[in-house]
Amino acid sequence: MAKKRKYIFVVGGVMSGVGKGVSASSIGTIMKSKGFKVTALKIDPYINIDAGTMNPTEHGEVFVLRDGDECDQDMGNYERFFNMSLTRNNYMTTGRVYQEVIRKERNLEYKGKNVEVVPDIPREVNRRIKNAAHDADADVTIVEVGGTIGEYQNIIFLEAARMLKIEHPRDVAFVMVSYLPTPSTVGEMKTKPTQYAARTLNGAGIQADVIIARSGVSLDDKRKEKIAVFCNVLAKNIISAPDADSIYDIPVNFEKDHLGDHLSEILGLPKRKTDLSEWMEFVNKKKNAKKELNIAVVGKYFDSGDFVLSDVYISVIEAVKISSYYAGAKPKLSFLNSKDFEKDKSKLSVLKDYDGVIVPGGFGESGVDGIVETIKFVRENKIPYLGICYGMQLMVIEYARNILGWKDANTREINPKSSKLVVDIMHDQKQKLEASDYGNSMRLGDYTAVLKEGSIVRKAYGEEEIVERHRHRYEVNPLYVEELEAKGLIFSGKSKDGTLCEIAELSQSEHPFFVGVQFHPEFLARPLAPHKLFSAFVKAGLNK
Ligand code: GLN
Repeated sequence: MAKKRKYIFVVGGVMSGVGKGVSASSIGTIMKSKGFKVTALKIDPYINIDAGTMNPTEHGEVFVLRDGDECDQDMGNYERFFNMSLTRNNYMTTGRVYQEVIRKERNLEYKGKNVEVVPDIPREVNRRIKNAAHDADADVTIVEVGGTIGEYQNIIFLEAARMLKIEHPRDVAFVMVSYLPTPSTVGEMKTKPTQYAARTLNGAGIQADVIIARSGVSLDDKRKEKIAVFCNVLAKNIISAPDADSIYDIPVNFEKDHLGDHLSEILGLPKRKTDLSEWMEFVNKKKNAKKELNIAVVGKYFDSGDFVLSDVYISVIEAVKISSYYAGAKPKLSFLNSKDFEKDKSKLSVLKDYDGVIVPGGFGESGVDGIVETIKFVRENKIPYLGICYGMQLMVIEYARNILGWKDANTREINPKSSKLVVDIMHDQKQKLEASDYGNSMRLGDYTAVLKEGSIVRKAYGEEEIVERHRHRYEVNPLYVEELEAKGLIFSGKSKDGTLCEIAELSQSEHPFFVGVQFHPEFLARPLAPHKLFSAFVKAGLNK
């Protein structure tokens, strides 16, 4: 008999940014801990086919999957919480759905019928959801609808959810993540916005089964009852979700209200015990971590009006935290805007206060001079350094300029006229850019690197071959590798065919930890499987 697949839709009420993605990930973690096979889909309502073409200051981090899909940072939450790798099938945008429907129409797959926004678009949405569930052979599939209910561009996805419920009345549950403000002038937690949100959802033909009530503090019984009555939800299915110290506490907090059992009951799943013991081991490591560790992330995508936006580097931040907890350290991360160092070089001396510096990935010219100065400073002052992608390319540029004396060394991305293009465009990438083929066209996803015997990275990984995720168009120019190596820069990781430089480092006799990687190790750091390279970096930081 075919497996009964269950679907949990997670939608947002009132406002965005209150932790819908983390709630969805936590629900999955709980259901997984009950022994159910779980997968998740993220739906983003924008027209973009993927997140790859969006400006990071607008969209936040672009998370890269192993198959090279460029998607929303919530996908990173799923992979971290579930400790598993997802694929292109787990990510959906309005653009993808329409593109597929139009393709089918052109191929006569609708057999001459009118093709309509409703029902053909929601049907395609549901085909994708079922496909992802089938692919993972999942018992429970979490579907997170991006944005908030009531937004015009969300309607088609809510329509899909409603249709799936009609088709499988006992197999679909709706969770609404809502927000309960406590206005300082009133001093009381207000339920009204949540009531309106529940009504709006009703207007789309959907009744919430569970409401996750996000708020500053825990929900009292009075408010629980109020929400229950006015939103038509059983009081036991209203889950109190106060602000937490860490996102990793959330599954545990949800289980205080027995969310897993309630969802099982709603979906007619067999009653099974929640076993979060493995997860708790990690949470306890986090709680017991005491050692101080100060890490600076020096980047260029921090300014968003008057606000500092660290979301752009969320996976890097989580990777540092996870490895730190395993080392018994409680990291303090500071976000330094490289553009500030360009205005005033003397500010670089603040870097001395840090146990380690990370330069994460990036694109284009702005802020780059400040980053090169940063790298020079940490190299000369022997501060542990981890350069990721652009952070590796700029590390090679800094070395070429200051150690080899090639003053105009650069990357083609910034100055194609430079006489020493130590970072150049990859051959096949050149053709793509000439054809204005920008969408999902970088060197993306999993590639293998072979590590040099005796190197820092070889010791860190403890393996000769590693697989990491990539996202770049430029590479260290093979023309200059020999000269750079002659002056002490070690290319300790190469692509399998030996042509691409994947890692650069300095010998430990010269610097305690000076490592740059062309790939993005942050995408593989998981609470239950800390990333070895980040762990080595953290260790170097603790030794400083
Ligand atoms: N801009 C560089 C490239 O395209 C680095 C990319 C990155 O840091 N992700 O190669």
